[in-house]
Amino acid sequence: MTATTYQPGEIQGLIKINASKCKGCDACKQFCPTHAINGASGAVHSIDEDKCLSCGQCLINCPFSAIEETHSALETVIKKLADKNTTVVGIIAPAVRVAIGEEFGLGTGELVTGKLYGAMNQAGFKIFDCNFAADLTIMEEGSEFIHRLHANAKGEENAGALPQFTSCCPGWVRYLETRYPALLPNLSTAKSPQQMAGTVAKTYGAKVYQMQPENIFTVSVMPCTSKKLEASRPEFNSAWQYHQEHGANTPSYQDIDAVLTTREMAQLLKMLDIDLANTPEYQGDSLFSEYTGAGTIFGTTGGVMEAALRTAHKVLTGTEMAKLEFEPVRGLKGVKSASVSLFDTELNQNVTVNVAVVHDMGNNIEPVLRDVMAGTSPYHFIEVMNCAGGCVNGGGQPIEGKGSSWLGNI
Ligand code: SF4
Ligand code: SF4
Ligand code: SF4
Repeated sequence: MTATTYQPGEIQGLIKINASKCKGCDACKQFCPTHAINGASGAVHSIDEDKCLSCGQCLINCPFSAIEETHSALETVIKKLADKNTTVVGIIAPAVRVAIGEEFGLGTGELVTGKLYGAMNQAGFKIFDCNFAADLTIMEEGSEFIHRLHANAKGEENAGALPQFTSCCPGWVRYLETRYPALLPNLSTAKSPQQMAGTVAKTYGAKVYQMQPENIFTVSVMPCTSKKLEASRPEFNSAWQYHQEHGANTPSYQDIDAVLTTREMAQLLKMLDIDLANTPEYQGDSLFSEYTGAGTIFGTTGGVMEAALRTAHKVLTGTEMAKLEFEPVRGLKGVKSASVSLFDTELNQNVTVNVAVVHDMGNNIEPVLRDVMAGTSPYHFIEVMNCAGGCVNGGGQPIEGKGSSWLGNI
């Protein structure tokens, strides 16, 4: 581990153990992908910030609620919602809509997209579905993969490293950066849906909302604590950079101004006396609430790969996949793999693409990475999600019983 694993400006120490509540039971350690939790059995435990990914898996699985987040934007968001000169854009991740209903007495896993749109609209948010941005991510990531595949097949210089890794999970990205920096060229250069959404909301969105970008306040609603760390990365101010290049002269702002977890959005609605369970459904207020099914499945393990394969199939063969659901990459096996054979119209030959999907990263990723390091990996494209089951079981989701309430519903 290097001396510091954070860039200036990044949120550090997001997840903390409250010493007064910790019983030293050791339960958290088994959920930590990086062995970042120290402490003897029976003694108060602590987290090594430099090893921590801010994934929140320890937090949702601590039986004594002794693990807490140190950063909350709740008060700031409420102030911005009350400010008539600010347009507050709520960016809603796919996994939030199947979990937030739990906080309002609805059934586990109940899909509440329309009610959540309605409740957030009532609170004053413009609705920006992160699925819209997930569609953009998959177009970028799928196109990049095809480019690398073709360039490698033709033996071009600077063809791009294979296998290509997905880049939408900040826990995984930080794991790779801190432990396997030599493999960073394998990471897709596509931004995550959260970051795509923030950039679009403050560039093209500024025209849609008829607002100056500096008066747009983007709030992403995520199943994930690590997304707070991602949003704070200093390089994620692309909209500001774009506007500076086009004549603006304003202080720097981030693409995403605030991240609320699913739990925090439920808290915000309750603070504003909005009962999601009894809110009329709302369809959204712009094209930013339109999306395909490919964006929706980002929230579960295998979803990104399935969406990418659909895109790659269309681009490579010129036809849609005959069967849209791609079963081999679904389910909860730690590492799932599949081969897809298709006729590549650009190369004018049959090609076989080998893909792998990894979740519950702490328990499953190491053998996969060792093969890539050794040059013996059979794969061309690998999806990696830190949390067991993917984002539906993220560290920002409602806590039910011992946590991991989502696994039974996948
Ligand atoms: S699970 Fe909670 S109580 Fe148990 S050691 Fe970890 S922080 Fe302490
Ligand atoms: S937040 Fe994630 S990486 Fe950090 S200590 Fe907890 S489980 Fe480990
Ligand atoms: S799997 Fe999803 S919820 Fe978990 S750390 Fe990655 S992005 Fe966040």
